[in-house]
Amino acid sequence: DLANVGVVGMAVMGSNLARNLAHKGHSVAVFNRTASRTDAMIAEHGTEGDFRPAHELADFVASLERPRRIIIMVKAGAPTDATIDALVPLLEEGDIVVDGGNAFFEDTRRREEKLRGLGLHFVGAGISGGEVGALEGPSIMPGGSRESYEALGPILESISAKVDGEPCCTYIGTDGAGHFVKMIHNGIEYADMQFIGEAFELLKGLGLSYPEMADVFATWNTGDLDSYLIEITSEVLRKVDAATGRPLVEVIVDAAGMKGTGTWTIQSALNLGTPVNAIAEAVFARAISSSPALRASAQKALTGPDGKVDVADRDAFIEQIREALWASKVVAYAQGLDEIRMAAEQYGWDINVGEVAKIWRAGCIIRARLLERIRSEYAAGNLVTLIEAPSIASGLADAQDGWREVVATAVRAGVPVPGFSAALAHYDQARAPRLNAALTQGLRDYFGAHTYRRIDREGAFHTNWSTDGAEIQES
Ligand code: NDP
Repeated sequence: DLANVGVVGMAVMGSNLARNLAHKGHSVAVFNRTASRTDAMIAEHGTEGDFRPAHELADFVASLERPRRIIIMVKAGAPTDATIDALVPLLEEGDIVVDGGNAFFEDTRRREEKLRGLGLHFVGAGISGGEVGALEGPSIMPGGSRESYEALGPILESISAKVDGEPCCTYIGTDGAGHFVKMIHNGIEYADMQFIGEAFELLKGLGLSYPEMADVFATWNTGDLDSYLIEITSEVLRKVDAATGRPLVEVIVDAAGMKGTGTWTIQSALNLGTPVNAIAEAVFARAISSSPALRASAQKALTGPDGKVDVADRDAFIEQIREALWASKVVAYAQGLDEIRMAAEQYGWDINVGEVAKIWRAGCIIRARLLERIRSEYAAGNLVTLIEAPSIASGLADAQDGWREVVATAVRAGVPVPGFSAALAHYDQARAPRLNAALTQGLRDYFGAHTYRRIDREGAFHTNWSTDGAEIQES
């Protein structure tokens, strides 16, 4: 009697995933490099389902039915390679190795190619939802061969989050597609959190107390902004520090950490040449927050308004902040989904963007009501970009007066809103009939003879800027 599926890595994510699998009726082989971790998991949770613990990797592999389905949940990077290298000699043709960690998609492409050459399937599966998601139902983004999904898909779908019975797990595309989509999920998550932070600072500038701010976010969570991150923002703002009696957020050091997926999102966007300025501002906002030397010297040297927001109608302005938050969020989603579309072209992935929105509706950190609308807009038509979709474009049109007012007011008050303003700049750039790039091309041609194209004729042209001023058509 062999086990249905195996999990390697019994830290928090792996053990919760193994328990989730067992709760859904699968028999689960479990292994961890350090055996005591396996024993501890079995001692605590062994009665929850059919677990098959092993202390030797060979015993673990031998305990699995074929094709073997092995999910690796270990530290990303070299530990993942070490685990794969230890497993591979023990496997047989057709076996499926899944990396559920936060791998960089180029690593996944490399690993997939190597294992494919050995007759094995390698699946890079992005898993979002943190430890609770892993246990109760995450959003799962698997990439690899289609064939592997036939054996693996039903198991992954059984443990994923569900919306109206539909699993938050779908085949994404070949090799690194799943991990790429997970990376974009995290990039959007960075942007979402930055926008929430900007809204928070503006509400604070208006003079709202922490409980009042918590109420505002709780109210927003009942409308178009309904999402996990808005919901927990209300809870975090309401939390009082037991030691000092102050709001907890006031005693937390204002230096945001990051583990790399946001940075990868920007690096990949730069390589693809796709604009993601709102997401980039979120990554850079964390960077400046974690630059103590720069901030300490600048605080001594620089002057400006104090961040107090003075408006005639406080409630009306709070509504405008909500509009700015919603519109900026839409732009960040659009930028992330555009990056997926560009990468799909570049890497030959057949990614259905609407299906991506569908599996983000529950289980993952960016789960939000908006995603249902995004899913249906992509299902209804072939979109180049989300912001052109009818219901989205009209929503942005309705929100834009408030959005502009919020950015202008924030700039005057000295409240930094890089996310709101970058998203608004993207909106204005994307809809502009003419961009200042024409002047850029003139300048490039002036100093570097880089040539330009004309609106009225085919071909590349150069002006003799420093001699006779004549225009030459390049051959
Ligand atoms: P950690 O990232 O803390 O990794 C610990 C696990 O990795 C242990 O099982 C450890 O084994 C194993 N490990 C470390 N080095 C090696 C090595 N050289 N060879 C073999 N095994 C090794 O665990 P998490 O559970 O937090 O995360 C697992 C993966 O899931 C990571 O890739 C993470 O990025 C990803 N992830 C995490 C999320 C989260 O919320 N935490 C959310 C989504 C994804 P040992 O006990 O022997 O040291």
